[in-house]
Amino acid sequence: MPDAPTIFERIIAREIPADIVFEDDAVIAFRDIAPKAPVHLLVVPKTAAYPDVAALAAADPALLARVVAIAQQLAAEHSDGDYRLVFNSGANAGQTVFHVHAHVLAGGLTEGSLG
Ligand code: C5P
Repeated sequence: MPDAPTIFERIIAREIPADIVFEDDAVIAFRDIAPKAPVHLLVVPKTAAYPDVAALAAADPALLARVVAIAQQLAAEHSDGDYRLVFNSGANAGQTVFHVHAHVLAGGLTEGSLG
């Protein structure tokens, strides 16, 4: 039996709401529901094939590059252009959703702004 869809698949399918700030055929970005910085966005490849950034990098480096480019674009649109990019990888690092996603933290960072 396939795994149950993650919360991000349900956001992509519009089954649950999110404050979406960007979308194209391959990537969606929305505001984190529990922001750790004045600007806290999540950039998420739509495919559910990759649980973490290492899996994405190994299988589809062009898609990872697209995620980074969109993160930079959104940081410029929503803040002064400076940003922290965080990929939590593994439960012991704080990963709770096993569908690869980049945290974009911007707009005045503190030490607590680690995604
Ligand atoms: O890296 P990690 O897996 O912990 O990140 C998941 C993120 O997804 C959390 O920062 C959480 O606040 C966010 N989230 C969200 N909307 C949801 C569920 C989780 O923005 N509906």
